[in-house]
Amino acid sequence: MKITRLSDLADAALCRRLVVKVGSSLLVGKHGVRRAWLEGLVAEIAAARARGQEVIVVSSGAIALGAAKLGLDKGGRGSLADAQAAAAVGQIALSGLWAELLGAHGVTAAQLLLTLEDLEDRRRYLNATATLTRLLDAGAVPVINENDSVATQEIRFGDNDRLAARVAQAAQANAVLLLSDVDGLFDRNPAEAGAQLLPEVRGVTAEVHAMATGGSSSGMGSGGMTSKLQAAEIAERAGIALAIASGLHDAPIARATSDAIGTLFLPRRKDAGRKAWLGGRLRLKGALVIDAGAARALGKGSSLLAAGVIRVEGEFQRGDAVAIRSDAGATLAHGLAEYDALECARLMGHNSAEHAALLGYAPRSAVVHRDQMVVL
Ligand code: GLU
Repeated sequence: MKITRLSDLADAALCRRLVVKVGSSLLVGKHGVRRAWLEGLVAEIAAARARGQEVIVVSSGAIALGAAKLGLDKGGRGSLADAQAAAAVGQIALSGLWAELLGAHGVTAAQLLLTLEDLEDRRRYLNATATLTRLLDAGAVPVINENDSVATQEIRFGDNDRLAARVAQAAQANAVLLLSDVDGLFDRNPAEAGAQLLPEVRGVTAEVHAMATGGSSSGMGSGGMTSKLQAAEIAERAGIALAIASGLHDAPIARATSDAIGTLFLPRRKDAGRKAWLGGRLRLKGALVIDAGAARALGKGSSLLAAGVIRVEGEFQRGDAVAIRSDAGATLAHGLAEYDALECARLMGHNSAEHAALLGYAPRSAVVHRDQMVVL
């Protein structure tokens, strides 16, 4: 049984584990925390748990809250240093709030602050999986945010949409609900006359990306539709449904699920754990550019052989995750390299029979083995 409709997100049989992401503009208003609204959402979360669903919260708002306390302009997003300081101040208040409001329903909150690297490194990713599973088994509601105070520019999500999708993967959740200040994805800029809300999207194609407009409309979060579509892509590859819905109303989960107002992205396939993790990786150490023949072979499920590689980019070690791209620049696959970048460059264009002589030692069967590769 699979999720096919927005209402399925409230069905414990179809959606046992749900990730709910709450955007900054929902949590923090002009006059500080929107407490009454949050109390309503927490009541919905408690009701979901009573129905037998396990809920994980991804909560933004640390930067917005901290900026207000510290009196920083631009909502604390003027510089990375401001954002990091604001997050350090705001996060305390944010977790305290979730703990208090969930506690009023007899639910224990648990805080996890993650960085991009925590989920890009396979061992740390599995560690996060274990912690989340244990917390859910113990009946707690994990409340997650990016560890903004230590995440530097190069190694940060920067938006909680993709973080939520990666967390859903790690937690093997059935669905993600991104609550934001828009009703969902529109076929064009929602400010334009005649713009239509898309109830369902199968596959985040180039055409779908073209519908997304710019960054965060509230100016408070950093997401916007672009990062929501990236999140949908990560979820889609992991076989997880993802919905975008507005949180600007009271009881936003019911509005998205009972009234079915939102956009539901349906997954088209389900990669097994390791491959899903690899497909959702956001930072890769390098790239192997391949010819058309190799691209066809990959599509048929073959490993990548050195003969089909035409260019090697980046400095990677054996075992690092690399992108496999066409000459035209399209990313075809992610995989773990069997050789480091120098060796790949030495072997590229050569048939397997020549490898031993080129390397001076027994070669491996492929540059990227099919078991360590996910075709995108
Ligand atoms: N982690 C940021 C915060 O807590 C929010 C990121 C986002 O806007 O998605 O303020």
